[in-house]
Amino acid sequence: MAHSNQIENVVQITRGDAASPVVLVCEHASHLIPDEFDNLGLPEAAKRSHIAWDPGAHEVASHMSQHLQAVLVESKISRLVYDCNRPPEAPDAMPARSEAFAIPGNEGLTKQDRAQRAQAFYDPFRRSLATQINARKCPVIITIHSFTPVYNGTVRDVEIGILQDDDGRLADAFLNAAPRHTDLRVQRNAPYGPEHGVTHTLKTHAVPQRHLNVMIEIRNDLIATESAQLEMATLFSRWAVDALATLGVSLEHTSCKV
Ligand SMILES: [Zn+2]
Repeated sequence: MAHSNQIENVVQITRGDAASPVVLVCEHASHLIPDEFDNLGLPEAAKRSHIAWDPGAHEVASHMSQHLQAVLVESKISRLVYDCNRPPEAPDAMPARSEAFAIPGNEGLTKQDRAQRAQAFYDPFRRSLATQINARKCPVIITIHSFTPVYNGTVRDVEIGILQDDDGRLADAFLNAAPRHTDLRVQRNAPYGPEHGVTHTLKTHAVPQRHLNVMIEIRNDLIATESAQLEMATLFSRWAVDALATLGVSLEHTSCKV
């Protein structure tokens, strides 16, 4: 079988029946490249590097799902096969290059190859996420990512990025609440922002619908161990509850005041 589009093979839903309005999303949770792609021709070092996934993001998101008793929707496939935070027409949905690495298995893809990948890996993710969001009365979309401390040889000083697209209500609330929760270097729309095409999930599932939303980027050296991942998840869970409370949203009473 060339492609499997069985949802359970490509999308992981945790706590799908949670009552919380929070919908956690992790598009880059996995570095798995299905066998049929023959590792996309990549060397071993590249297959598990940050170009293939967001190291630590899955663990942080999982712990947050537990702390907040909230659903978590994750892609089970490497972003090099299909980046679920990109629309099918974006060249970097199936990048032929990422940072220093060429990705041989993504070179010269035909229109049909691209359409097949989108159908197999993006459509189930998009549909599953939409179903989870639609099942909640006043959903709050929080996407969890990690970024590399050094990119193309440049060291990044920012430690936490709070990213937004056109609707910055929840990003503002997070940034305003930051001093109550952390001494880490927190910045809006860093180390990149909507101009780099990274807010696709927010733009698709939250902004047009007026759902509160934010994208969280954590420098991956800060979540490299189990204890650090748990600590960061605890930090972000408390921070989220506080930020939402300042907007009049209580996670206990599922109110829709915004
Ligand atoms: Zn990411």
